[in-house]
Amino acid sequence: MTRQTTTKCCICGLKFENSHLFPLLLLKVEVYELIKISQPKLRKNDFICFKDLNHYKLKSIQKILPQVKTSEEKVINSVKNQEFLSKDIHHTYHEKRTFGEKLADKVATFGGSWSFIISFTLFIIIWIIFNSYKVLHNPFDPFPYILLNLILSCLAALQAPIIMMSQNRQEAKDRLRATHDYEVNLKAEFEIRMLNSKIDDYLQASLQRIKQLEEQQEKLSKA
Ligand SMILES: [Zn+2]
Repeated sequence: MTRQTTTKCCICGLKFENSHLFPLLLLKVEVYELIKISQPKLRKNDFICFKDLNHYKLKSIQKILPQVKTSEEKVINSVKNQEFLSKDIHHTYHEKRTFGEKLADKVATFGGSWSFIISFTLFIIIWIIFNSYKVLHNPFDPFPYILLNLILSCLAALQAPIIMMSQNRQEAKDRLRATHDYEVNLKAEFEIRMLNSKIDDYLQASLQRIKQLEEQQEKLSKA
């Protein structure tokens, strides 16, 4: 068996140590076919470097994707550049809020709390008692408390759109989180598939190597 220290990668043409190259012969058919399309002059006994191999593996998985949209593109790029994709959506979204949005959130949170219900009930009771008290000769809002009614209707009219605003923002945040979860899941699937494919390749390569060694041993024992 001839022993070479370095061999050329058939894609980028750079020289690598043999341990940093993979024989095309042992590649999965779909990956080999994909390489063959872009490099028709390939021979079966050529070698490919790991960087190029990863590129084609990624491409072969990419082919299974039904459609490539912004999300998928983002995932593919993140796998290619080995970047992190996971991030804290809650934190990023909260930091981006404008003053009005922050205020709407605070009002909506307070409006939906027990402290609001209790304090507002107390306010109404005090108002009614104050304006019903017979000692007061001239109460500013006598029965049937028209001013109180006006205040209550104004509050209800304002509270509804504020709560809706806050809900819309919550929905937008949920949508963003769902997209982000999808991207992270897709990336995990990509990585697992690539890992799977790599393990298959190495297993096949090791089996091939064992077979070669066995053959060599057999020859030696016969000699
Ligand atoms: Zn290469």
